[in-house]
Amino acid sequence: MFESLSDRLGGVFDRLRGRGALTEADVRAAMREVRVALLEADVALPVARDFVDKVTEQAIGQNVLRSVTPGQQVVKIVHDALIAMLGADESSLLLDVTPPAVVMMVGLQGSGKTTTTAKIAKRLTQGSLTGRERKKVLMASLDVNRPNAQEQLATLGTQVEVATLPIIAGQQPVEIARRAMQAAKLQGYDVLMLDTAGRLHVDQALMDEMKAVADIARPQEILLVVDSLTGQDAVNVAQNFSDQVPLTGIVLTRMDGDARGGAALSMRAVTGKPIKFAGTGEKMDALEAFHPERVAGRILGMGDVVSLVERAAESIQVEDAERMAMKMAKGQFDMDDLRGQLAQMRRMGGLGALAGMMPGMKKAQGALAAQPGSDKMLIHMDAMIGSMTAKERSKPELINAKRKIRIAKGSGTTVQEVNKLLKMHLEMSTAMKKIKKMGGLKGMMAMLG
Ligand code: GDP
Repeated sequence: MFESLSDRLGGVFDRLRGRGALTEADVRAAMREVRVALLEADVALPVARDFVDKVTEQAIGQNVLRSVTPGQQVVKIVHDALIAMLGADESSLLLDVTPPAVVMMVGLQGSGKTTTTAKIAKRLTQGSLTGRERKKVLMASLDVNRPNAQEQLATLGTQVEVATLPIIAGQQPVEIARRAMQAAKLQGYDVLMLDTAGRLHVDQALMDEMKAVADIARPQEILLVVDSLTGQDAVNVAQNFSDQVPLTGIVLTRMDGDARGGAALSMRAVTGKPIKFAGTGEKMDALEAFHPERVAGRILGMGDVVSLVERAAESIQVEDAERMAMKMAKGQFDMDDLRGQLAQMRRMGGLGALAGMMPGMKKAQGALAAQPGSDKMLIHMDAMIGSMTAKERSKPELINAKRKIRIAKGSGTTVQEVNKLLKMHLEMSTAMKKIKKMGGLKGMMAMLG
């Protein structure tokens, strides 16, 4: 996600930060580059223009230029402006009503609607979207146009262990919706997810059908699923839908393949609707809640420690995650911690998937993802840390040239590899301290209570 934009902005800000003093002209020149970077990321023109104007005004207007770290301050302003552009408010699903709460999924054919329906249902049953409370969920497909659409949802239901409404051949969408409501009420479901029919284009028949279903089901959430790879088309589709039905949020799918991120960046500003989830792959786990603050951090290469810790928390003991988070916050992240993380990474989908979330590792991500042997690299790193003494692990700065040779020999690697590992650790620690300074860990600390 956002790799190319992140690279471009990284270059601009490295240059800004590299200078002691900044003039107004420096800032304006940098902002011209930011504008080009946004347009290349396929951000809607008015959105890019507005963004750059606001940031420029703030950067020049306040005491930024006279401050000790003007470059850093400009980055902070951009960071906050990115959050504002993505939608500052947290947007979770609102399902606190007398059950069943209804979530209606709408969108064009092929956008990933059925897949996303099952992904969200899975999360709800696990309790990870609604403050840990596990929901009893029923899914129903109202798609009578596409052959096998209802069966597809039933298959996914079996896979994620979520109930689906039995199929009755020949029933029309409104009838199915009515039957689903009844079943959900009678059988005590907390949430009913309605997967509506898609079309190839936005057309009136589709809109009428959606409205008729919404009249009957009175959904708490109407989520539009759009394909982020279609860029500004996705934003236009969202605008069209939004004009006809009261959308409560957007799900952007295929973010895993979207290096530019134009749809994600312009969506909120153009449509006024919050992005609630991002689809990041075909697997049923590949769904992320969309947190503007974290996404802004990722775009600016500050990593996304919060998501990283959350993912870790899903596969390891909660106490471990808390300990790790505290250490990160204090900047006391040693080789033992790194080793623990490496082991988890292997369980959490490999290096490529996670590198983008780690502070200081953004640049390594592309290389790692492209490298089929990246798991081998994890094993090497583990071996190198295993060859260190306890003292070296807690104080890596002790590791001099002689020790490096010993570690390389002991782990069957090379001194270059040891150097790389040490550099990675150093970059991560530095980035974490930086994040702490910028207050970026607030959310994480709140989350961990
Ligand atoms: P629908 O017609 O809108 O219901 O679309 P489907 O749910 O059938 O999805 C169409 C295809 O897109 C399927 O092959 C999905 O596996 C795939 N897909 C859905 N979401 C994502 C995503 O976030 N990333 C990727 N890479 N593929 C996805």
